[in-house]
Amino acid sequence: MSKVAIIAMGGTIAMSPSTAGGVVPALGADDLVAAVPGLAELNVDLTACTLRSLPSPSLGFDDLVALSHAVRAEIEAGATGVVVTHGTDTIEETALFLDLTVDSPAPIVVTGAMRAPASAGADGPANLYAAIRVALSPAARGLGCLVVMSDEVHGARFVRKSHTSSTGAFVSPGFGPLGLIVEGEPRLRGTPRVALTLPATDAITRLRVGLVTIALGDDGELLRRAGDAFDGIVIAGLGAGHVPAGMVPLVAEFAERIPVVLASRTGSGSVLRQTYGYPGSERDLLDRGLIHAGFLDPAKARILLQLLLADGADRDRIAATFDLYR
Ligand code: ASP
Repeated sequence: MSKVAIIAMGGTIAMSPSTAGGVVPALGADDLVAAVPGLAELNVDLTACTLRSLPSPSLGFDDLVALSHAVRAEIEAGATGVVVTHGTDTIEETALFLDLTVDSPAPIVVTGAMRAPASAGADGPANLYAAIRVALSPAARGLGCLVVMSDEVHGARFVRKSHTSSTGAFVSPGFGPLGLIVEGEPRLRGTPRVALTLPATDAITRLRVGLVTIALGDDGELLRRAGDAFDGIVIAGLGAGHVPAGMVPLVAEFAERIPVVLASRTGSGSVLRQTYGYPGSERDLLDRGLIHAGFLDPAKARILLQLLLADGADRDRIAATFDLYR
């Protein structure tokens, strides 16, 4: 019999109304499994454990290291696949972290809910059912970490939360989902993950990678005041990877001292390399030593940079690794 391990981290999928108002994490993995109809017919050995009970904005790298170890332990103990239930606000970061730190063909599927269990039309049980089906699917093996929401299967390196409240909040901009769940059955097209595995160690909790979003009229004051606190920086640049001309000397100065990765705040597409030639353009910034983020969005670029720094990578190795995501 196939075995699927469910690991709960918290999030809306596990939230109940509090006496003080609003929903808060309250339910454990067993409660989530008990709310899903149709599992008995799947003939699967399900185990459920609650690792954290947190809203996902409050998860940190220590929690992700613990989760990565727990996922690997379940696979080593014989799980065919692992399902992680998680808050949706940071699901995309956790998915990439697991993709990068668990080297196994076993499906690792992260899911959550946009509506809490007590809401009309709560989506948690359907998402958890679909996630378990994907975790059981031989077609999901070797695809790395997947995010399953609203009957769609997304790859860890593409997926983004793109809406504050819709049950269809998750998209893979520019690429689309890797597959769909049709009548309960996963139909996967499959795009192999980037073949890269990095260690998940406590070293990551001692590092700080800053994410700086650039805006019109930005004079760099935020970066100037905060930049020294960081071991690495991700710039969420304008358009195809641009900053105002006045910021260039400051950004270049940081790039001489620490890795500075150039991503785009647009939400879709890759930073360019050779189109624009004005001060602050992508050509200018790359010439000054910034590292190209490829198709990784700013939040995901930060996860990769933090893992690389924790592994002791130098600038050349960091740049070569980001090149895998072109
Ligand atoms: N704020 C919640 C969280 O990320 C949202 C959710 O789970 O859907 O924990």
